[in-house]
Amino acid sequence: MDTPSLDTLIIGAGSAGLAALREVRKRTERFVLINDGPYGTTCARVGCMPSKLLIEAANAYHQRHTLGEFGITGADGLAADLPAVLRRLRRLRDDFVAGARQITDALGARSIAGRARLLGPQQVQVNGTSGTIYHAKSIILAPGSKPVLPPEWRALGDRILTTDTLFEQATLGPRIAVIGLGPVGVELAQALARLGLQVTGYATSEWLGGLSDPAVNTSLHEALARDFSLHTGPAATLHTIPDGSGGISGIEVRSGEHRSVVDHVLVAIGRRPQLACLGLDTLGVALDDKGMPPVNPQTMQIANLPVYLAGDAHNHRPLLHEAADEGHIAGMNALAPATRCYQRRTPLAIVFSDPNAAVIGQSLRALQAQSDLVLVTGSIDFARQGRARASQHHHGRLNVYADQTSGRLLGAELCAPAGEHLAHLLALAIDQQLTVGQLLGMPFYHPVLEEGLRTALRDAARQLDPARTSVQASDLATCDAIGAEALD
Ligand SMILES: Cc1cc2nc3c(=O)[nH]c(=O)nc-3n(C[C@H](O)[C@H](O)[C@H](O)COP(=O)(O)OP(=O)(O)OC[C@H]3O[C@@H](n4cnc5c(N)ncnc54)[C@H](O)[C@@H]3O)c2cc1C
Repeated sequence: MDTPSLDTLIIGAGSAGLAALREVRKRTERFVLINDGPYGTTCARVGCMPSKLLIEAANAYHQRHTLGEFGITGADGLAADLPAVLRRLRRLRDDFVAGARQITDALGARSIAGRARLLGPQQVQVNGTSGTIYHAKSIILAPGSKPVLPPEWRALGDRILTTDTLFEQATLGPRIAVIGLGPVGVELAQALARLGLQVTGYATSEWLGGLSDPAVNTSLHEALARDFSLHTGPAATLHTIPDGSGGISGIEVRSGEHRSVVDHVLVAIGRRPQLACLGLDTLGVALDDKGMPPVNPQTMQIANLPVYLAGDAHNHRPLLHEAADEGHIAGMNALAPATRCYQRRTPLAIVFSDPNAAVIGQSLRALQAQSDLVLVTGSIDFARQGRARASQHHHGRLNVYADQTSGRLLGAELCAPAGEHLAHLLALAIDQQLTVGQLLGMPFYHPVLEEGLRTALRDAARQLDPARTSVQASDLATCDAIGAEALD
């Protein structure tokens, strides 16, 4: 069945699709939003929000280890009731999902449940070859991504979990392997360990949580190793252990010589854009070896077609705020008389481990790849930072990277207490193109963790050329630390 032509059509009711919808609704009523599968967005259902709910519970329980040192007794009597933790998680999660669902529910007939497939740059068919065909002047693709789960592991049954299924479990463990220690694996492995599970983490790369600075990575590794056993080596393989009566008593994880037997395996080896069955081949543009069409990240336009690709499906920066920005840009351009370029924000990626890890601006790896750049690194080790010691959060490192010629702050990597907040401060500074000298001229209160940032900036300032940068000879900006941790 064919329908009358629309101004635009959005595929995917996730964060990118809903951000596009907000712009589309300001401009036309002649649109539809097509979504396959559960509503409520990946972020609220199985992503950012449930993972943070688990982490908050885990860190609250973990605090008991610090209470004795503060002089507070009785912590030995505390216990984590994992089923209750998971029930609370789902209760709040459902609330977040309901908020997102209200938006699509309010669309009435313009919200269509079904699987969409392109028939060309201005045509979409929903629910198979006999389904309804929609014509639209422009199309916004926001189909998101799915956890990668190798078919041979999927066949091992319901002991193999991904973030799509983890939060639905009534309980877990007691032994669990987390395979993949990128941002998602790191966050969840630590949270599960802090809730009392026996966790073994596996990764093929030394780099944890998306970091690229060796010193910061070591700091994160040390912090995580206090909570669970980390193993880096050859790609893990999984093998079921029969229970003798036709069932399974556990899963054996093998990586090189390393073996562990667990009750559950959380597979966190990345996410794949949901592009395979979208009909991109009908657009008449060349797809790369991953099936990705050419997309301009400042317009979200595919080649010069009236088709836009936004969110995790694009895989440019698979983060919530980036998905929302991309949807916003796509929503505006899909209905604009002429396509406009929008400047993208300073990169900011945070891992909610404890200590938080983050990459802000350009990573060390990206900066080191620029052969014409003379880089200065300023550093602080939080082991001796006064406020961090007061709260027993004295672990971690912050490295800031500046251009030696201009003194401009270009990037930072950290594994630091309250790192999520330091990361935002640094992102604002990099976004404003501030120099180390300009930052040092700003106020720092006492005693705060931000004084750690000042220490790193002072370290960088000492390595800059005062004649060519805005670092002042003034004590205000360039003085050495006083040398007493309670005052620095
Ligand atoms: C465990 C976890 C933790 C995370 N934590 C954070 C965090 O702390 N901070 C952060 O910034 N980001 C985080 N993220 C990433 C963040 O959740 C994503 O970047 C964001 O949700 C992507 O939104 P999206 O709109 O691109 O995709 P989605 O929200 O997945 O939406 C895509 C929608 O399109 C539908 N769809 C797909 N194909 C079709 C089709 N052919 N037809 C119709 N509909 C289709 C899908 O079913 C889905 O409903 C996390 C992710 C995970 C998994």
